[in-house]
Amino acid sequence: MSDKKTIYLDNAATTEPAPEVLKMMCPYVSNEYGNPATMYSLGLSAKKAVDEAREKVANLIGAESPEEIYFTAGGTESDNWALCSSIMCSDKKHVITSSIEHHAVLETCEFLETIGCGGKADFLKVDEYGFISQETLSEAIKDNTGIISIMHANNEIGTILDIKSLAEVAREKGVIFHTDAVQTVGKIPVDVKELGVDMLSLSGHKFHGPKGIGALYVKKGTKLKPFIHGGGQEKGKRAGTSNVPAIVGMGIAAELAKNYIEKKDTRVEKLTEKLWNGLNENITKISRNGHPEKTIPGTLNVTITGIEGEAMLLMLDMQGICVSSGSACTTGSLDPSHVLLAIGLPAEVAHGSLRFSLSKYTTEEEIDTVIKTLPAIVNRLREMSPTWEG
Ligand code: PLP
Repeated sequence: MSDKKTIYLDNAATTEPAPEVLKMMCPYVSNEYGNPATMYSLGLSAKKAVDEAREKVANLIGAESPEEIYFTAGGTESDNWALCSSIMCSDKKHVITSSIEHHAVLETCEFLETIGCGGKADFLKVDEYGFISQETLSEAIKDNTGIISIMHANNEIGTILDIKSLAEVAREKGVIFHTDAVQTVGKIPVDVKELGVDMLSLSGHKFHGPKGIGALYVKKGTKLKPFIHGGGQEKGKRAGTSNVPAIVGMGIAAELAKNYIEKKDTRVEKLTEKLWNGLNENITKISRNGHPEKTIPGTLNVTITGIEGEAMLLMLDMQGICVSSGSACTTGSLDPSHVLLAIGLPAEVAHGSLRFSLSKYTTEEEIDTVIKTLPAIVNRLREMSPTWEG
């Protein structure tokens, strides 16, 4: 558990590793240091641990076989690989994605354009919640569309998109469908067969596993180009000595997440609603972004008129409360969030947004503290503002 004084509400950025994960990783950073690609006992024991973890990750997402799971260094690499591979494997070079994707997808599309590998990518517009309709997708598909990549849930506003219906459109038109499920895997039930996707990205550190490890699910029969060259690891598709401790850690995190999801515990949803109601009752001119129901449990994005998100973030930090303004991956940049702009917020409004993201470790007492602390911060900042008129 984290230091008692810290109230950590930035679980969409990263999560605290579960104690069980750390415990099971320990031997693999000490005496069980074998290379799984070797043939003696120490290596074979590491290989067994890697195989078991692959099975646990496959189970978490309902894959047909562990063979469909390729370990990567995280969600960013999985997204890069899915897009680059699909474009390299086919002479159809047009990419369709959404305007609210993580930068791992957006910038890979831009990269593919610059190296002349892909045709121009189309970034589909979303509605006020972040949804894309089947019609919008269908109309965007061209004869040379090689891949569609649309995220399962948005990391900033939490909205869960209807991937099943979008993947259906892709299947009807014979186009490969990839989804970035980094924000949903380990938090809600995700079943690749039910969703009907060909590829899916996930990341260990978003569901209480270690950082620097993720996976790309590739449905059997889908073409996959090697991404990193120079070794036979991951069936010759992703070279480099396997990160055994992290793989083991993500496997345990996957197993824990599966058990947790099956319990259908609604505590995190209830705490999130309590947080929203508490803030809404005590702060004027506050609104909620993203869909209020079709959302990742624990993610709450709000806009507070008249104040910069960064000012609130820094003052909350002084009280030991960690939250994010806009996307954590772009913290440091003061550009308004591309996601909030895409759902129709004006730039000056988007600047006043905060994202709270809870986890199963969040307590009611912590939420009570935030409900008490933030309204006072808002009042102080508004009093100091030369433009705030109430
Ligand atoms: N995709 C989404 C939706 C994310 O939220 C993130 C991280 O915030 C990533 C991809 C990148 O994952 P990773 O940090 O494992 O590279």
